Amino acid sequence: MFLFRMGVGRFLGRYFYVNQFVASCSRRSLFVYNRAAQPSLGYSAPKRSAVVPVSTAVAATMAAAATAAAAAGAGAVVYESTVSKPVRAEDIPEDAARLPHHVKDSSGNHVKFRNPYPSAGDPKPTMFQTLRAILTAKIQGNLPTPSTSEAQIPCCTPQFSPSRDNAGGSGSLRATWLGHACYYVEFPSGLRVLFDPVFEDRCAPVQWMGPKRYTQPPCKLAELPVVDAVVISHSHYDHLSYHSIKEIQTHHPSAWFFVGLGLEKWFKASGVENVVEMDWWTDVKLTLTPQGDNNKGEREGRSIEAEISCLPCQHSSGRNGLDHDRTLWASWGVKSGGKNVWFGGDTGYRRVPQLPVTQWKDPAADYGPEYESLPKCPQFKQIGERKGPFDLGLIPIGAYHPRWLFSWMHANPYDAVEIFKDTRCARAMGIHWGTWVLTSEEVEEPPRLLRDALRQSGIEEEGVFGVCKIGETKEF
Ligand SMILES: [Zn+2]
Ligand SMILES: [Zn+2]
Repeated sequence: MFLFRMGVGRFLGRYFYVNQFVASCSRRSLFVYNRAAQPSLGYSAPKRSAVVPVSTAVAATMAAAATAAAAAGAGAVVYESTVSKPVRAEDIPEDAARLPHHVKDSSGNHVKFRNPYPSAGDPKPTMFQTLRAILTAKIQGNLPTPSTSEAQIPCCTPQFSPSRDNAGGSGSLRATWLGHACYYVEFPSGLRVLFDPVFEDRCAPVQWMGPKRYTQPPCKLAELPVVDAVVISHSHYDHLSYHSIKEIQTHHPSAWFFVGLGLEKWFKASGVENVVEMDWWTDVKLTLTPQGDNNKGEREGRSIEAEISCLPCQHSSGRNGLDHDRTLWASWGVKSGGKNVWFGGDTGYRRVPQLPVTQWKDPAADYGPEYESLPKCPQFKQIGERKGPFDLGLIPIGAYHPRWLFSWMHANPYDAVEIFKDTRCARAMGIHWGTWVLTSEEVEEPPRLLRDALRQSGIEEEGVFGVCKIGETKEF
């Protein structure tokens, strides 16, 4: 009880959440909940992406959604969508071609995934070492519980384009932050993509414990006019929600879901058939073709094409304590209508060692000269060289304190600026903050540090890499 009064219980709850141990602490209730409402995430060996020419690889066809068309307004064009089979990119990095992120057992069977570079650190601290360090820091007052009562995270009502035509036909990309890692992106081609939608109150296996929202979603999922593609970075609860997926499917039944290897089973068990699971460095083509007599509508019968690329990042996965790293985490590239977007999802950049506790409050401490030689994740430069430049990067900037514990899996704003440069993004928006308290930094700190990180890198503080109101749309 004493420890809980100290806030240790709440912190541990968050820690357990991030590492997906919360489920094993409440397995009984989770079991009941999962049986009632969600598919379990038992492991199945991922299917290897076949290398098949795109032109001969139409994998599936779906009739476009009447509901989506109706939502987009009378006379909206009805589209048929096709997705090619994933094809491994031709210029894949040499080391990545050996699939070092696939872990096999002694019989050669695929078991799980891993981060293949030293920037993730090895070995990681054990559970006992971590808990002991957290408890000690908490009792000594070095690990504050962030307050949300006075947080000023501005919100507004989203202004989506009413049809697939961008406002005024300006040819720009419109991107709307829907909180945490969720973005709705309107491409000038007419394509509409939703990234990591989680609209629930708590990002946890159950809705009676775990991190609770301190900012509300700016709209309902039902209010999104069109959704053609849903891109999921990984299986953690702040990025993948069963109830949100089901609601999207209800309102946008023709939407395709693009996920990392191993997650197809979860989607199919959830009743979602139009799902494509992909390995790092594979691409698919998504084509929307106007149908029937409706092809003289808003876009004059033109088809919409997109290249969707599954790309690496440095993270982890798991939903129930028993499926740790059994499904693949990923960042994603989406290119359509002359615009190119990189979605970072959830990623670390470099693992920093446990610093003296006196340095914990200095957010830039691990970017001092003594830490310059720490290995950085090389995957972001590889992405920038092969898939960049990007018009827009959606890059995580939150859930990083204390650094020695979370740096391997979560970027702080200083890391985020390095990732921004490595991936060759022209502009970027900060995600993965402002919605749930997952770690112990102050909730308004990430955008503040982002400005400092930009200044230190010699980048303009305004108009290049920033944040916006929840619900706000920016054009790129
Ligand atoms: Zn995560
Ligand atoms: Zn996350």
